[in-house]
Amino acid sequence: MKELIFLEPVLKECIWGGDRLSEFGYRLPSDSVGECWAISAHPNGDCLIKGGLYDGMHLSTLWDTHRELFGGLTAEHFPLLIKIIDAKRDLSIQVHPDDAYAALHENGASGKTECWYILDCDENATIVIGHRAGTKEEAERLVKEGKWSDFIREIPVHKGDFFQIEPGVVHAIKGGTVLLETQQNSDITYRVYDYDRLQNGVRRELHLEKSLSVIGIPFRECALERKVLPVKGAVCEELICCRYYSVERWEISGETVLPGTSTFRNVSVVNGEGKLGGFPVAKGTNLLIPCTYGECVAEGNMELICSTIEKV
Ligand code: ZN
Repeated sequence: MKELIFLEPVLKECIWGGDRLSEFGYRLPSDSVGECWAISAHPNGDCLIKGGLYDGMHLSTLWDTHRELFGGLTAEHFPLLIKIIDAKRDLSIQVHPDDAYAALHENGASGKTECWYILDCDENATIVIGHRAGTKEEAERLVKEGKWSDFIREIPVHKGDFFQIEPGVVHAIKGGTVLLETQQNSDITYRVYDYDRLQNGVRRELHLEKSLSVIGIPFRECALERKVLPVKGAVCEELICCRYYSVERWEISGETVLPGTSTFRNVSVVNGEGKLGGFPVAKGTNLLIPCTYGECVAEGNMELICSTIEKV
Protein backbone atom coordinates (compact mmCIF):
# COMPACT_ATOMS: atom_id res chain seq x y z
CA MET A 1 0.00 0.00 0.00
CA LYS A 2 1.81 3.07 -1.23
CA GLU A 3 -0.40 5.82 0.08
CA LEU A 4 0.07 8.75 2.42
CA ILE A 5 -2.48 9.02 5.22
CA PHE A 6 -3.68 12.64 5.48
CA LEU A 7 -5.46 13.55 8.72
CA GLU A 8 -8.19 15.99 9.64
CA PRO A 9 -7.18 17.78 12.86
CA VAL A 10 -9.46 17.92 15.91
CA LEU A 11 -9.66 21.42 17.41
CA LYS A 12 -10.26 22.01 21.12
CA GLU A 13 -11.58 25.15 22.74
CA CYS A 14 -9.83 25.96 26.03
CA ILE A 15 -10.06 28.80 28.55
CA TRP A 16 -6.43 29.65 27.80
CA GLY A 17 -6.62 29.33 23.99
CA GLY A 18 -6.46 32.00 21.28
CA ASP A 19 -6.94 32.37 17.54
CA ARG A 20 -3.44 31.73 16.25
CA LEU A 21 -4.19 28.20 15.03
CA SER A 22 -5.93 29.94 12.12
CA GLU A 23 -2.38 30.65 10.88
CA PHE A 24 -2.21 26.91 10.12
CA GLY A 25 -5.22 27.18 7.80
CA TYR A 26 -7.67 25.73 10.33
CA ARG A 27 -11.17 27.13 10.52
CA LEU A 28 -11.67 27.92 14.20
CA PRO A 29 -15.04 27.57 15.96
CA SER A 30 -14.20 30.54 18.24
CA ASP A 31 -11.32 32.78 19.22
CA SER A 32 -10.34 30.63 22.18
CA VAL A 33 -8.98 27.49 20.56
CA GLY A 34 -6.04 26.10 22.49
CA GLU A 35 -5.26 22.76 20.91
CA CYS A 36 -5.15 21.13 17.53
CA TRP A 37 -4.94 17.36 17.91
CA ALA A 38 -3.04 17.01 14.69
CA ILE A 39 -2.22 13.29 14.67
CA SER A 40 -4.31 11.44 17.22
CA ALA A 41 -6.12 8.16 17.69
CA HIS A 42 -7.12 9.05 21.24
CA PRO A 43 -10.86 8.66 22.03
CA ASN A 44 -11.00 12.31 23.16
CA GLY A 45 -9.96 13.46 19.67
CA ASP A 46 -9.67 10.69 17.11
CA CYS A 47 -8.58 12.16 13.74
CA LEU A 48 -10.45 11.28 10.57
CA ILE A 49 -8.50 10.26 7.49
CA LYS A 50 -8.90 12.65 4.60
CA GLY A 51 -8.96 11.24 1.06
CA GLY A 52 -7.52 8.07 -0.42
CA LEU A 53 -8.36 4.46 0.29
CA TYR A 54 -9.32 5.04 3.94
CA ASP A 55 -11.22 8.31 3.50
CA GLY A 56 -13.49 9.02 6.50
CA MET A 57 -12.00 6.30 8.73
CA HIS A 58 -10.79 7.17 12.23
CA LEU A 59 -7.06 6.77 12.83
CA SER A 60 -7.88 4.42 15.74
CA THR A 61 -9.79 2.14 13.33
CA LEU A 62 -6.90 2.15 10.87
CA TRP A 63 -4.61 1.17 13.76
CA ASP A 64 -6.97 -1.62 14.83
CA THR A 65 -7.55 -3.08 11.38
CA HIS A 66 -4.40 -2.40 9.33
CA ARG A 67 -1.48 -3.06 11.62
CA GLU A 68 0.67 -3.98 8.59
CA LEU A 69 0.85 -0.26 7.75
CA PHE A 70 2.58 0.30 11.11
CA GLY A 71 5.13 -2.48 10.77
CA GLY A 72 3.04 -4.87 12.85
CA LEU A 73 3.48 -2.93 16.11
CA THR A 74 1.57 -4.75 18.83
CA ALA A 75 0.59 -1.96 21.28
CA GLU A 76 -3.14 -1.87 21.99
CA HIS A 77 -3.38 1.85 21.13
CA PHE A 78 -1.66 4.06 18.57
CA PRO A 79 1.40 5.09 20.59
CA LEU A 80 1.82 8.82 19.89
CA LEU A 81 -0.23 11.99 20.01
CA ILE A 82 0.81 15.16 18.18
CA LYS A 83 -0.70 18.48 19.19
CA ILE A 84 -0.20 22.05 18.05
CA ILE A 85 -0.91 24.35 20.98
CA ASP A 86 -1.73 28.05 21.03
CA ALA A 87 -1.45 29.33 24.59
CA LYS A 88 -2.84 32.83 24.63
CA ARG A 89 -2.94 32.61 28.41
CA ASP A 90 -1.12 30.45 30.97
CA LEU A 91 -1.87 26.74 31.15
CA SER A 92 -2.14 25.13 34.55
CA ILE A 93 1.02 23.78 36.16
CA GLN A 94 1.05 20.03 35.88
CA VAL A 95 3.04 16.84 36.11
CA HIS A 96 2.65 13.38 34.57
CA PRO A 97 3.36 10.00 36.14
CA ASP A 98 5.68 7.43 34.59
CA ASP A 99 4.46 4.12 33.15
CA ALA A 100 5.00 2.22 36.40
CA TYR A 101 3.03 4.68 38.56
CA ALA A 102 0.22 5.02 36.00
CA ALA A 103 -0.09 1.25 35.61
CA LEU A 104 -0.49 0.89 39.37
CA HIS A 105 -2.65 3.93 40.19
CA GLU A 106 -4.52 4.67 36.94
CA ASN A 107 -6.03 1.35 35.91
CA GLY A 108 -3.09 0.17 33.85
CA ALA A 109 -2.84 3.39 31.82
CA SER A 110 0.52 4.49 30.44
CA GLY A 111 2.47 7.39 31.83
CA LYS A 112 3.46 10.33 29.75
CA THR A 113 6.71 11.62 28.35
CA GLU A 114 6.27 14.62 26.07
CA CYS A 115 8.35 17.18 24.23
CA TRP A 116 7.82 20.70 22.94
CA TYR A 117 9.17 22.42 19.86
CA ILE A 118 8.55 26.17 20.13
CA LEU A 119 7.05 27.37 16.84
CA ASP A 120 6.60 30.97 17.90
CA CYS A 121 6.41 33.08 21.05
CA ASP A 122 6.13 36.63 22.29
CA GLU A 123 9.31 38.53 23.01
CA ASN A 124 9.29 38.08 26.78
CA ALA A 125 7.54 34.71 26.92
CA THR A 126 8.49 32.20 29.59
CA ILE A 127 7.82 28.57 30.28
CA VAL A 128 7.74 26.46 33.45
CA ILE A 129 10.07 23.46 33.52
CA GLY A 130 11.01 21.99 36.88
CA HIS A 131 10.96 23.35 40.41
CA ARG A 132 13.38 24.71 42.96
CA ALA A 133 12.70 22.53 46.01
CA GLY A 134 15.72 20.67 47.32
CA THR A 135 13.86 18.06 49.35
CA LYS A 136 10.46 16.41 49.43
CA GLU A 137 9.63 18.23 52.70
CA GLU A 138 10.42 21.57 51.10
CA ALA A 139 8.30 20.74 48.03
CA GLU A 140 5.36 19.75 50.25
CA ARG A 141 5.66 22.91 52.27
CA LEU A 142 5.89 25.25 49.26
CA VAL A 143 2.96 23.51 47.51
CA LYS A 144 0.75 23.41 50.62
CA GLU A 145 1.51 27.03 51.51
CA GLY A 146 0.90 28.05 47.89
CA LYS A 147 4.35 29.65 47.51
CA TRP A 148 4.27 29.10 43.77
CA SER A 149 6.84 31.67 42.72
CA ASP A 150 9.35 30.10 45.13
CA PHE A 151 8.50 26.60 43.99
CA ILE A 152 8.33 26.69 40.20
CA ARG A 153 11.27 27.20 37.86
CA GLU A 154 10.22 29.64 35.16
CA ILE A 155 12.64 30.27 32.30
CA PRO A 156 12.68 32.45 29.17
CA VAL A 157 11.64 30.74 25.94
CA HIS A 158 12.52 31.48 22.32
CA LYS A 159 11.32 30.42 18.91
CA GLY A 160 13.12 27.21 17.91
CA ASP A 161 13.72 26.00 21.49
CA PHE A 162 13.08 22.38 22.26
CA PHE A 163 12.24 20.78 25.62
CA GLN A 164 11.89 17.17 26.67
CA ILE A 165 9.46 16.76 29.59
CA GLU A 166 10.10 13.53 31.42
CA PRO A 167 7.51 12.09 33.82
CA GLY A 168 7.82 13.75 37.22
CA VAL A 169 8.84 17.13 35.75
CA VAL A 170 6.59 20.01 36.78
CA HIS A 171 5.73 22.00 33.65
CA ALA A 172 3.45 24.62 32.16
CA ILE A 173 3.12 26.48 28.91
CA LYS A 174 2.69 30.17 29.63
CA GLY A 175 0.75 32.68 27.59
CA GLY A 176 2.20 33.92 24.29
CA THR A 177 3.61 30.64 23.01
CA VAL A 178 2.69 28.43 20.05
CA LEU A 179 4.31 25.01 20.06
CA LEU A 180 4.16 21.51 18.65
CA GLU A 181 3.94 18.77 21.24
CA THR A 182 4.89 15.17 20.60
CA GLN A 183 3.80 12.86 23.39
CA GLN A 184 2.97 9.36 24.47
CA ASN A 185 -0.71 8.76 23.76
CA SER A 186 -1.92 9.22 27.33
CA ASP A 187 -4.20 11.67 29.07
CA ILE A 188 -2.99 11.18 32.63
CA THR A 189 -2.20 14.61 33.98
CA TYR A 190 -1.98 15.78 37.58
CA ARG A 191 -2.75 19.45 38.02
CA VAL A 192 -0.50 21.10 40.61
CA TYR A 193 -1.69 24.70 40.39
CA ASP A 194 -4.18 26.61 38.25
CA TYR A 195 -3.55 30.23 39.35
CA ASP A 196 -6.84 30.05 41.33
CA ARG A 197 -8.75 30.58 38.07
CA LEU A 198 -12.45 29.88 37.74
CA GLN A 199 -14.01 27.87 34.94
CA ASN A 200 -17.81 28.24 34.84
CA GLY A 201 -17.59 29.67 38.33
CA VAL A 202 -15.55 26.87 39.90
CA ARG A 203 -11.90 26.12 40.34
CA ARG A 204 -10.62 23.17 38.34
CA GLU A 205 -9.65 20.19 40.45
CA LEU A 206 -6.06 19.95 41.67
CA HIS A 207 -4.27 16.65 42.32
CA LEU A 208 -1.79 17.59 45.02
CA GLU A 209 -1.33 14.18 46.66
CA LYS A 210 -0.65 12.38 43.39
CA SER A 211 1.47 15.27 42.11
CA LEU A 212 3.68 15.21 45.18
CA SER A 213 4.17 11.47 44.89
CA VAL A 214 5.36 11.66 41.27
CA ILE A 215 7.36 14.93 41.18
CA GLY A 216 11.07 14.18 40.87
CA ILE A 217 13.06 15.88 43.64
CA PRO A 218 15.39 17.62 43.14
CA PHE A 219 14.62 18.66 39.56
CA ARG A 220 17.23 17.53 37.06
CA GLU A 221 17.38 19.27 33.72
CA CYS A 222 17.28 16.92 30.73
CA ALA A 223 20.56 17.26 28.84
CA LEU A 224 19.66 17.55 25.17
CA GLU A 225 21.99 17.05 22.29
CA ARG A 226 20.41 18.42 19.14
CA LYS A 227 22.16 16.81 16.21
CA VAL A 228 22.18 18.06 12.63
CA LEU A 229 22.23 15.13 10.25
CA PRO A 230 23.72 15.55 6.77
CA VAL A 231 21.05 15.22 4.06
CA LYS A 232 20.81 16.41 0.46
CA GLY A 233 18.35 19.25 -0.15
CA ALA A 234 17.51 19.83 3.49
CA VAL A 235 18.69 20.41 7.00
CA CYS A 236 17.58 17.54 9.19
CA GLU A 237 17.91 18.08 12.88
CA GLU A 238 17.35 15.28 15.36
CA LEU A 239 15.70 16.96 18.34
CA ILE A 240 15.41 13.90 20.55
CA CYS A 241 15.67 10.15 20.40
CA CYS A 242 14.26 8.48 23.51
CA ARG A 243 12.57 5.16 24.22
CA TYR A 244 9.11 6.57 23.35
CA TYR A 245 9.83 8.53 20.17
CA SER A 246 12.36 10.15 17.88
CA VAL A 247 11.57 13.67 16.74
CA GLU A 248 13.21 15.42 13.80
CA ARG A 249 12.92 18.85 12.31
CA TRP A 250 13.35 19.08 8.54
CA GLU A 251 14.00 22.37 6.82
CA ILE A 252 13.55 21.68 3.15
CA SER A 253 14.62 23.97 0.35
CA GLY A 254 14.53 22.16 -2.95
CA GLU A 255 14.13 18.41 -3.08
CA THR A 256 15.01 15.74 -0.55
CA VAL A 257 13.98 12.26 0.48
CA LEU A 258 12.44 11.31 3.81
CA PRO A 259 13.80 7.82 4.47
CA GLY A 260 11.43 4.90 4.99
CA THR A 261 10.85 3.53 8.49
CA SER A 262 10.13 0.10 9.92
CA THR A 263 6.96 1.48 11.60
CA PHE A 264 5.50 4.82 10.50
CA ARG A 265 6.43 8.48 10.39
CA ASN A 266 4.22 11.34 11.59
CA VAL A 267 4.68 14.53 9.59
CA SER A 268 3.39 18.01 10.43
CA VAL A 269 4.11 20.90 8.09
CA VAL A 270 4.76 23.83 10.42
CA ASN A 271 5.96 26.42 7.90
CA GLY A 272 5.93 27.00 4.17
CA GLU A 273 4.59 24.74 1.46
CA GLY A 274 5.62 22.14 -1.05
CA LYS A 275 4.85 18.58 -2.04
CA LEU A 276 5.13 15.23 -0.31
CA GLY A 277 5.04 12.19 -2.56
CA GLY A 278 3.69 14.52 -5.25
CA PHE A 279 0.78 15.79 -3.10
CA PRO A 280 0.60 19.52 -2.36
CA VAL A 281 1.04 20.28 1.35
CA ALA A 282 1.24 23.52 3.33
CA LYS A 283 1.59 24.84 6.85
CA GLY A 284 -1.01 22.98 8.91
CA THR A 285 -1.00 19.72 6.88
CA ASN A 286 -0.64 16.61 9.06
CA LEU A 287 -0.07 13.13 7.74
CA LEU A 288 1.32 9.75 8.45
CA ILE A 289 3.69 7.85 6.18
CA PRO A 290 3.14 4.10 6.70
CA CYS A 291 6.14 1.76 6.64
CA THR A 292 4.74 0.20 3.46
CA TYR A 293 5.18 3.51 1.63
CA GLY A 294 8.96 3.42 1.82
CA GLU A 295 10.91 6.60 1.21
CA CYS A 296 8.99 9.77 0.42
CA VAL A 297 10.13 12.57 -1.90
CA ALA A 298 9.71 16.00 -0.31
CA GLU A 299 10.05 19.19 -2.30
CA GLY A 300 9.42 22.87 -1.76
CA ASN A 301 10.31 25.42 0.88
CA MET A 302 8.95 24.15 4.14
CA GLU A 303 9.66 23.10 7.68
CA LEU A 304 8.44 19.75 8.97
CA ILE A 305 8.32 18.22 12.42
CA CYS A 306 8.43 14.44 12.07
CA SER A 307 8.27 11.68 14.64
CA THR A 308 8.65 7.95 14.58
CA ILE A 309 9.09 5.09 16.99
CA GLU A 310 11.38 2.10 17.00
CA LYS A 311 10.01 -1.35 16.61
CA VAL A 312 10.54 -3.24 19.86
ZN1 ZN B 1 2.13 17.83 29.99
